Amino acid sequence: MIRVSLGILVIVYLTFLLGTLAVVWFVAEFLRIGRERQRRQHFVICGLCDHIYEDVSEERLPPCPRCGALNERSRVREI
Ligand SMILES: [Zn+2]
Repeated sequence: MIRVSLGILVIVYLTFLLGTLAVVWFVAEFLRIGRERQRRQHFVICGLCDHIYEDVSEERLPPCPRCGALNERSRVREI
């Protein structure tokens, strides 16, 4: 039988708990960044009326829902 003091047991428990929380946080953050990046790929800015819209189709020139102009896909820059 292994003898372990209460202090060591508490330290092991807290280390395991904090390690688990850190792993869950990293995975959630990684998934959030992936979703955010994927969502940004679908944003299109109309060159005619500056309307920002989301187009999930794979069309090369998605039409603007406001004015109907065909726009090229470009990256939306973060401010
Ligand atoms: Zn437009």
